[in-house]
Amino acid sequence: MQDKILISTKKREELVDITKDVEEKVKKSGVKEGICNIFVRHSSAAIIINENYDPNLSDDFIGFLRKRIPQGIWKHDVIDSNGDAHIKSSMIGSSLCVPITNNDINLGRWQRIVFCEFDGPRANREILLTIISD
Ligand code: ZN
Repeated sequence: MQDKILISTKKREELVDITKDVEEKVKKSGVKEGICNIFVRHSSAAIIINENYDPNLSDDFIGFLRKRIPQGIWKHDVIDSNGDAHIKSSMIGSSLCVPITNNDINLGRWQRIVFCEFDGPRANREILLTIISD
């Protein structure tokens, strides 16, 4: 089955923890064991699994990418000034899979599912979930 999560972002670059939204959708699906694919339907955003307990880690992650992939130096910027966002999206990736066990996503203690905004703020960022039973 498929379902989707819509989120709005407030900053140009921002990490948004969507773990609870994914948990709710998996519970609603009724799937006991299987896989949940999480797919970001945008070319200037990405999805990761990481710790989200210490907010400094989000700042570090965004800071790391800003240093390595700076804004305003790309050929694509003549079109819509977001060449860096497209490169970050491609490097980080637009989908991942998590295991489902006992009708819940089976993450490690410190793991969270985190949406990465690289060209916000945006309304209605769409994350498509494909939930497959084994
Ligand atoms: Zn663009």
